[in-house]
Amino acid sequence: RGFVARQQEDSVIANGTFLLSTRGFPTLGYRGSYELSDPRERRKRGLPGGSAAALEGADAHGAVDSTLDEWVETALTVSTSADQIALAPGNLERTWERGGRRWFRYRTGAPILNRFAISSGRYAVARRQQGHVALELYHHPAHAANVAHMLDGAAAAVDLMERRFGRYPHRQLRIVEIPSYWPMAGFALPEAIYLREDRGFLTDTRDPGRPDLVARRVAHEVAHQWFGHRVHVVDQEGAAVIVESLTKYAELLVVERLRGREHVRQLLEIELDRYLAGRAADSYPEVALYQADRQAYLYYNKAAIVLFGLRDLLGEAAVDHAIRGLMQEPRPTSLALVRHLLAVAKPEQRPLVASWLREVVLYDLRVAATTAHRRTDGRFDVTLRIAAGRSRVDARGTEQPLPLNEPIEIALTAEGKVLDSRKHVLRQGMNVIRVTLETRPSEVTVDPWITRIDRNPVDNGQGF
Ligand SMILES: [Zn+2]
Repeated sequence: RGFVARQQEDSVIANGTFLLSTRGFPTLGYRGSYELSDPRERRKRGLPGGSAAALEGADAHGAVDSTLDEWVETALTVSTSADQIALAPGNLERTWERGGRRWFRYRTGAPILNRFAISSGRYAVARRQQGHVALELYHHPAHAANVAHMLDGAAAAVDLMERRFGRYPHRQLRIVEIPSYWPMAGFALPEAIYLREDRGFLTDTRDPGRPDLVARRVAHEVAHQWFGHRVHVVDQEGAAVIVESLTKYAELLVVERLRGREHVRQLLEIELDRYLAGRAADSYPEVALYQADRQAYLYYNKAAIVLFGLRDLLGEAAVDHAIRGLMQEPRPTSLALVRHLLAVAKPEQRPLVASWLREVVLYDLRVAATTAHRRTDGRFDVTLRIAAGRSRVDARGTEQPLPLNEPIEIALTAEGKVLDSRKHVLRQGMNVIRVTLETRPSEVTVDPWITRIDRNPVDNGQGF
């Protein structure tokens, strides 16, 4: 009842504790996160900039924040109330009771980023073994409804990430519930994911037709064990593209494996919607994806469309190869991502790859007219008139039309069954496409898998 005051101290409450290492442990070196970030406050004090360092040009330097780039090994002894379980990074070496309290000894088996949490709670525990990784889920005993579903998501994510992006270096991955008043949906910390109760544990998942937000959230935080913990970045423009965009891509790959491509298509519809709403509401000029810094609608929502579009264009193996190449570099920037993706593209694909990553490009694809005529042999001559266009948005927000000459998929369906789906080269202006089918189609969709950023996606489908 009532409302929650800001800044109240709620790290320690009756049934549990959640302490971030930054609250109580030292870090050596420079804390870039303590710098003033408000451009006006910086101007008042004669300080330059205010946003992340530029990637290119004289301004490029990329400060290393010590909390983002300090590796430590920890050995922690934690005591807690007799009815609680205490958690810290590393392998649980032993537990004992003394003085009416429970004691836990944790020691890391491999270096971790110096940004971790210690928690304690009256947890219920669920476990699942995924290869060499013990998945442990710690939750409020009353919040058990989605536990199996969350473990399914975590197991699928660990399996997919290990097969494609390298071995997970620890023996366990813990998923731990925290209260809903924490400001972030989840904290992806070493060997542990702290997830808010309202972001997974309490989500109503009974309708299978709705987006699987639970699997998606769990997969996202698991993927950060690779993008964010294995690959880490300097505080620079585009850093979020490495940490968040690649994680977003992995999240959707896991959902695709669990729920199928159609389910991901529904999620991409939401991503496109959020991108278009985000750019409409942004009071700053939109930058290219590779420069994304504080614009979440770019490094999450646009990135989802662009990376799935690149997978469609280049093939999954090529995109994986580019990402693994990036992971070999110490502190890669988003320029390295662009470079690795260009390297796996065929020469004729490179201009398109570059324009999606290094420019702001919008498409407008539209079904203008459809006809289907029965032939004397019983088959159907189908004619589609597809209007297509593409434009580039410059730094001032002005749009210039660009030539278009790209293979884009067009799907013909009847009662939800796909009759014909393949790529046709579309050029700017009106395209006329003729197809012969065995069955009369009932609907046509341009770009059915949402591989392009279409400013007006509602006119991409039409009936016959
Ligand atoms: Zn994230």
